[in-house]
Amino acid sequence: MPKKGHVPTVDPRSVSLSTRALHGVKLYPHQGPVAPPLFQTSTYRFSDSRAAVRYAEGDPDVYVYTRYHNPTVHEAEERLALMMGTERTLLVASGMAAISSAVLAVAHTGDEIISTPALYGGTYRFFRDILPPLGINVRYVMPDSLHRLPSMVSSKTRAVYFETPTNPTLGIVDMAALVEGVRKAERKIRRHITIMVDNTFATVVNQNPLQFGVDVILESGTKYLGGHSDLLAGIVAGREAFVRKSHTQMKYFGGCADPFAAFLLLRSLKTFELRVLRQNENALALARFLETHRGVQRVLYPGLPSHPQHAIARMQMVDAGGRGFGGMVTIQVKGGTRGAVKVCDALRVAVNAMSLGGVETLVSIPVYSSHVNMSTRELLRHGVTPGMIRISVGIEGIEDLKRDFHHALNLLG
Ligand code: PLP
Repeated sequence: MPKKGHVPTVDPRSVSLSTRALHGVKLYPHQGPVAPPLFQTSTYRFSDSRAAVRYAEGDPDVYVYTRYHNPTVHEAEERLALMMGTERTLLVASGMAAISSAVLAVAHTGDEIISTPALYGGTYRFFRDILPPLGINVRYVMPDSLHRLPSMVSSKTRAVYFETPTNPTLGIVDMAALVEGVRKAERKIRRHITIMVDNTFATVVNQNPLQFGVDVILESGTKYLGGHSDLLAGIVAGREAFVRKSHTQMKYFGGCADPFAAFLLLRSLKTFELRVLRQNENALALARFLETHRGVQRVLYPGLPSHPQHAIARMQMVDAGGRGFGGMVTIQVKGGTRGAVKVCDALRVAVNAMSLGGVETLVSIPVYSSHVNMSTRELLRHGVTPGMIRISVGIEGIEDLKRDFHHALNLLG
């Protein structure tokens, strides 16, 4: 505890991202462990039987059950809220738990969601297979047709959902244009529409959607926030009232964060900015290198001038205070799926595995992983092609990565 008369001197909101990620709200003479303790418990001993009643009445100091709340999870949530600059952040079991809890917090039977079609495959399947039987309809707008948004909105529209950059095609959605269209439509229906973005690819290091008027940030904490391919987590970040509703969904569907995952995540947050900066740097260098290889037909990386939406990416990422264009690079190689398989199976430094955001470089073939079993029409709408390889660039030495890809791509002849 601070000494008597000794007031905190640093406002945690006024310091850099890494300082917030390291110290959280404890930027004052706080006594206690430097590393946050792990409360690996499912339940809590009450001081007396009326404690449960005090909890039901809203006493924040009474802990009752880890599916509802846990001090280690709470510490991670507090730290993430500071990093994101949101009123509150909820930590849940996975990115999909975050997405489903948040969407079901706003949309109910008879309601509608508008989304861009290029999405993480799991989210798309949730929209395609799970929401319609619940009576929730999802309509799609292409990112280059955002001017159509106001005319698509109806009195049933509750949320607009998108990713930017998109998985795995690295398309960019113009956030300012999207928000403007939605707010215009709101005046027509006289009702608030919740704008949600999945910020997993960019992270808060490279992009802050709140600056553009987005309401809710969703993220798979499994990826860059965790960063070591050893935990699953998801976050919902936004206003207190919205996050509270998402928490209620999480509580009853059961996708609570595991305390040990929260403990690992707190550890990961200490190096989060450092890791992402190196991933940005490596990704840009690798993307430039891959553009020069004859085995590569196309490189998609928002930081390259050849990217069709490079100007928008620059405006809403780097020019808006972001530190780079992210660590994800997607390439299309010669020879379609066979070519992609040949390359992925020949890599020795980069690991052939699903997921992304870890310190090690991972590659995956979207038609075999996130977009497996989708129809040709769906793949076309998502912009996914057979010869695509998605690269999650890690923190290895860049020369090692270049050599690895050079050797594997040379096999394409
Ligand atoms: N959002 C994006 C952009 C993803 O790539 C993923 C997973 O790959 C998810 C959400 C889902 O996250 P999780 O696997 O933690 O549920």
